[in-house]
Amino acid sequence: MANALKLCCDVVRWFPVVFITAIVLWSYYAYVVQLCAFTVPSIAEKVVYLILYHPLLVLFMWSYGRTIMAAPGKVPRQFYLNKQDSDRLTRETNEEVQKAILMTAAKDLPIVNRTSSGLPRYCEKCKCIKPDRCHHCSVCGLCVLKMDHHCPWVNNCVGFTNYKFFVQFLGYALIYCLYVAATSVKYFISFWSGHGNRDMGKFHVLFLFFVSIMFGISLISLFGYHCYLTASNRSTLEAFRSPIFQSGPDKNGFSMGKYGNFVEVFGESKKEWFLPIFSTQRDGVSFPTRTKQANTYQTMGKTPSVGDGVNYPTRTVDLDSDGLLAERQRWMEEGGELGTGDSTGSSQQLITMSQD
Ligand SMILES: [Zn+2]
Ligand SMILES: [Zn+2]
Repeated sequence: MANALKLCCDVVRWFPVVFITAIVLWSYYAYVVQLCAFTVPSIAEKVVYLILYHPLLVLFMWSYGRTIMAAPGKVPRQFYLNKQDSDRLTRETNEEVQKAILMTAAKDLPIVNRTSSGLPRYCEKCKCIKPDRCHHCSVCGLCVLKMDHHCPWVNNCVGFTNYKFFVQFLGYALIYCLYVAATSVKYFISFWSGHGNRDMGKFHVLFLFFVSIMFGISLISLFGYHCYLTASNRSTLEAFRSPIFQSGPDKNGFSMGKYGNFVEVFGESKKEWFLPIFSTQRDGVSFPTRTKQANTYQTMGKTPSVGDGVNYPTRTVDLDSDGLLAERQRWMEEGGELGTGDSTGSSQQLITMSQD
């Protein structure tokens, strides 16, 4: 029964991908056959439209495919607690002992991010110390390296392994929509004003323009937002809650300047900026920071609770995996309605609750 339900969920999760693919296939037919072959009168115009259209479609579908297919970045073996330690940590009720177990486990790991109480971030579900910028995705059921969000439109986690492809997918999808809209607008107007008498073909061209404008408008803000995030070296999750460093929470902690931030995701070779080929720098586990970070083991436990004006409660367990705050975190990491609702209010409420 549980297996059937899981299978059902897995199938349903592919619906958005099937939907997007169907729209693109239909747009191919509407553009190439109905618009270019049957509607556009000039041969030269047909040829130019088709020559520009196909590379754009290939780049769009290629980056989309790579975003879907990329396996989410997995936490390396050395970040996992051994069975004995993880069992002890679960059983232990004494905070000091819990702290000691975590500190010992994190001793040789390359981490600078910590919880608000200055401890290594720990995932209770995966039983591992979270590498910097890593978060647990409740949809995927695992900790994902440099997790950005879980995107239903690609049925995958967007993170270290595919963030570049995701941004390219948004960019090429936007250009595709604008291109289709720009080249079909004059035929749209002529059909709309009652000229031309081909029945079905007319509807395909009318819809082609409508659909491309509609998707184009929604993509502008999404693509713009991810360009801004890339330029400031923040993930969607980090934009909502700043990573915590030795000096406290710092939303620009990983920022190496606009160009440096871009290169970190897109690589140094200009050719690779435009192609969906993996060129993201580093290993997804450790990242350069704006200020030099001291060795983690000696400095854990000494985080002042000052930073960007947010007062974090003193806690032993990382907010990500904590019972009281898990609800908000899960909501954030599922990539749900980010930015809607009163998140400040609810976090304030949760902080008050946790201080009781
Ligand atoms: Zn996890
Ligand atoms: Zn996920």
